[in-house]
Amino acid sequence: MTMREQEVGVFDFVLLDEITLEKFMQNLKKRYQAGKIYTYIGEVAVSVNPYRSLNIYANEFITKYKGRELFENPPHIYAVADAAYRVLRQQNKNTCIMISGESGAGKTEASKIIMKYIAAVTNAHSQNDIERVKNVLIQSNTILETFGNAKTNRNDNSSRFGKYMDIEFDFKHDPVGGIITNFLLEKSRIVKQQPGERSFHCFYQLLRGSNDAELRQYELSRDPSNYHYTNQGSTETLSEKNDYKATALAFKAFGFSVEEINCVWRTIAAILHLGNVNFGAEDDEIIVKNKSQTKTLAKMLMVTENELSTALTQRVIAAHGDIMKKSHDQVQAEFGRDALAKAIYDRLFTWIVERINKAIEVPNKNLQKRFNRVIGVLDIYGFEIFDNNSFEQFCINYCNEKLQQLFIELEQQEYQREGIEWTNVEYFNNQIICDLVEAPHKGIIAITDEACLTVGKVNDEMLLEAMDQKLAHHKHFSSRQLKPMDKELKHKVDFRITHYAGDVIYSIIGFIDKNKDTLFQDFKRLLYNSKDKILSSMWPEGAQDITKTTKRPLTAGTIFQKSMSDLVATLLSKEPFYVRCIKPNDIKSPTMFDDVRIEHQVRYLGLLENVRVRRAGFVHRQRYDKFLLRYKMLSQYTWPNFRGGSDKDGVRVLLEEKRLINDCKFGHTKVFIRSPRTLFQLERERNEM
Ligand code: ATP
Ligand code: MG
Repeated sequence: MTMREQEVGVFDFVLLDEITLEKFMQNLKKRYQAGKIYTYIGEVAVSVNPYRSLNIYANEFITKYKGRELFENPPHIYAVADAAYRVLRQQNKNTCIMISGESGAGKTEASKIIMKYIAAVTNAHSQNDIERVKNVLIQSNTILETFGNAKTNRNDNSSRFGKYMDIEFDFKHDPVGGIITNFLLEKSRIVKQQPGERSFHCFYQLLRGSNDAELRQYELSRDPSNYHYTNQGSTETLSEKNDYKATALAFKAFGFSVEEINCVWRTIAAILHLGNVNFGAEDDEIIVKNKSQTKTLAKMLMVTENELSTALTQRVIAAHGDIMKKSHDQVQAEFGRDALAKAIYDRLFTWIVERINKAIEVPNKNLQKRFNRVIGVLDIYGFEIFDNNSFEQFCINYCNEKLQQLFIELEQQEYQREGIEWTNVEYFNNQIICDLVEAPHKGIIAITDEACLTVGKVNDEMLLEAMDQKLAHHKHFSSRQLKPMDKELKHKVDFRITHYAGDVIYSIIGFIDKNKDTLFQDFKRLLYNSKDKILSSMWPEGAQDITKTTKRPLTAGTIFQKSMSDLVATLLSKEPFYVRCIKPNDIKSPTMFDDVRIEHQVRYLGLLENVRVRRAGFVHRQRYDKFLLRYKMLSQYTWPNFRGGSDKDGVRVLLEEKRLINDCKFGHTKVFIRSPRTLFQLERERNEM
């Protein structure tokens, strides 16, 4: 096979002589250093971020991979995209591509390459409306990155939200629309950034990319260091001037109206102004110290200055039908201001995603044309272990547990569906960790919710005590209280979860506040009353009467859990494909292969287990008819004339003749091949014909 000869190392980890970390790493390194960034584990593509432009995505490559089986060409993400698209076309099935890996590993780039590929191989008839759809689907990334991405210490363009996008196809298998679901935006970044990090790109785009007239309109100055919400970390310039233009073009492509665009940027300006609001005491009352600030802010939010100042400094409480005013203290006022900034941004982001969805949804008039088949692309935060891990990491790592569990379930499902026996690989099952987090009443989310609902002062330490009590027996949970001698648990607020990907120590501090995610009702009313209809529409609950008892909003943990279980249900119904991204080093170098860092990722991405499961199971599966289409010439039973029986019989005879049958199992619709060597032999003989 010619294509194999050009390969470096083994192109599929399943082919390693021994499945050890050492051998795995050797192969990965050898390939990476030869510029081969993709390697398979069966149908899973492992990708190492090259940190340089490789000439492997041009049109000639698209042609090469179009309509081809995975093993016909060197490993490539195009092959995975094509496989997903082929299953949709040929088997009329929904598919999804799940991309995982840590920050900076190349997930978002991978998702864009996949979209580009799908756009390139569809619409053979060059219909205008389909070209438009493909265009906006790709443009959606520009807007989402402007508002959802930020420079972090790990990645200059880090996605700070999870994204799942369904691309919808019509009966001709052309893309006719899409729908984006967003998960858990890291809104804490709005009010605080770590040294070296920035807030979301949009702030710097507005400040540095808009023209003087726009800047005056929003009463801003160019320099981000003038604003409390953009001057705590880095104020480095990236490519804002161009990016602002690109965002403007993307808004246009989506048909955002002048009012809508204005509302978006005015709200961004409002957040910058809000961050500069300072409080002080006057006659024992908290007041806003810099009055001109509230004046500008009121203008941006299109609310009255009076209502704004009141909402910033006091709350209205209804008790037994009476309405009382209660002044904030300094801490409450600052907490309220920051909560408001985060909430405004979060709602704006959600609104933008919904607005994009409106523009890419399949128009009603086309419903009858709608075939309703989708390819889902999931670009979601990978497993995170930081020096200090809090509620956000807890949610993100829980998400990874769910997806890992899903991987196993889907694998199992396929075997069962085909009537092939499944041997459970014990260490691979992480349902127990999912339960630790999400079980009703006794999971960490439920225990945290209970603490948040308890009337009276429950602090984070008390929450940890409650967890200790309920989870003392759990083998994946430990805390300082339960294991005082454990040196890793340095602080009394620390607890550890043994994730499938490794141990993570979390600090309980902040869990209650972040889970409650309180925003004073006064702010909701304020924004609902904004003269800006678009802004007002983002705050429907502000319409509620003060004296009416309000239902407690769902907690952040519960909302996240729900969105995860919805996501899992969506993915479960689709045929899955995987891209596992690896970050080769922490300095964005195109040449450095940092063994320690990579080993770590190989471990927690579960790649070795992945190879073992594949080896224990089957590396390749193919439908009988397709198998024959490719290999029928190898047997006189099947070629030139089929001698009778079902496709399955044909495959069986062929494999028997070739003495390969012991390596194969026969499912209801597919043949399962255990070793890639079998596949190579078939390929070799086919090529020699
Ligand atoms: P995060 O979780 O922080 O969002 P990510 O996994 O989405 O990270 P990307 O933003 O996709 O990471 O990639 C980080 C950077 O790595 C890109 O901006 C780009 O410079 C480089 N990169 C990633 N993949 C490729 C590729 N296939 N070819 C060239 N460069 C790449
Ligand atoms: Mg990303």
